Amino acid sequence: MRIAFTPLVQSLPASTPFVGPETLERQKGQPFRARIGANESAFGISDQARQAITDALTDSGCSWYPDPENYELRSALALKHGVAMEEICVDGGIDTLLGLTVRMLISPGETVVTSLGAYPTFNYQVAGHGGKLVTVPYRDNHEDPDALLAACEENNAKLVYLSNPDNPMGTSHNASTLQKMIDNVPDGALLALDEAYIDFSTEDLAPAIDTNNPKVLRFRTFSKAYGMAGMRVGYIIAHKDIITSVNKIRNHFQINRLSQIAATASLADHDFLRQVQKNVANRRQQVYDLADELGLPWLPSSTNFVAVDMGTSDRAKATLKELGEYGIFMRMPGVPPLDRYIRVGLGTEEEHTYLAHILREKLSTLAR
Ligand SMILES: *Cc1c(COP(=O)(O)O)cnc(C)c1O
Repeated sequence: MRIAFTPLVQSLPASTPFVGPETLERQKGQPFRARIGANESAFGISDQARQAITDALTDSGCSWYPDPENYELRSALALKHGVAMEEICVDGGIDTLLGLTVRMLISPGETVVTSLGAYPTFNYQVAGHGGKLVTVPYRDNHEDPDALLAACEENNAKLVYLSNPDNPMGTSHNASTLQKMIDNVPDGALLALDEAYIDFSTEDLAPAIDTNNPKVLRFRTFSKAYGMAGMRVGYIIAHKDIITSVNKIRNHFQINRLSQIAATASLADHDFLRQVQKNVANRRQQVYDLADELGLPWLPSSTNFVAVDMGTSDRAKATLKELGEYGIFMRMPGVPPLDRYIRVGLGTEEEHTYLAHILREKLSTLAR
């Protein structure tokens, strides 16, 4: 029987942007010893969040539907960011929200701009909704705001994406550069500003949030610094008309009760985030020191991973393959010229020690 899939679905490849570490473990028949490839947190969740979920489990944490309005969580977020609740939409991580954003704004054939080699899930969502993707090269290992805006203007694009700090390079722009970008978004276009890593930085990388400006959507998540990637909670901060439109199409029971409770509790735990920032800064320094010791250049990172320069793409790929054989899960940028780098995630002390051991022992024998 021929199934009548839509032409769009028929045209898409049967692949997702990521092969999960679990898939790789099943293929290898054994678990990884170090899981430092998906930018997950090695520093756990807030104790207050853990306690709140534990308490909820003995009540109706799982048997009741979650609050479709995410009221408590949105209240806490509104307070944190100094905006109204109507200017916040919570959903199943930034990945889901990027999909909703594309669905809300892009009709098949309309143009979207991003950087070549930037966050692949965004591209996946654009493809899944029939959008046409225009890419702009990185400049000196940074996403290039001026070139992104120029491409936006030139192609009459309706949406332009930038992540600050960036994945996969870990680099960042300062708040004033981003503010200038926001100020120059062409008429008819919106900026999707992905700030998944913003909580790691104690520097001033985020321009002031201005929900009166209907041209920018700020994407935040509990997956990275808050250590809750498995709980799937992210949010958009934007003008209320944008949020109203996202609400028209989102899945209202997406965020389960336990996730709502955990996210709300971790926002109240102010010491937690400061401790994570400290741990991340320390571990990052350990990775810098290790790379220095091995004679490998690295990029200063504003995230929980460090891009380490292996010199060539072939050597980067060979290194990842070899590390995989020693039970280390790591990833690297997908396209030139970024693919000379490997992306070293910050693991636990134990994972880091193991990585250092393997690199010291084996690096000299890796393909050069
Ligand atoms: C990790 C990551 C995300 C994923 O966020 P979720 O909230 O877990 O979906 C989004 N954007 C970038 C740039 C990331 O690296």
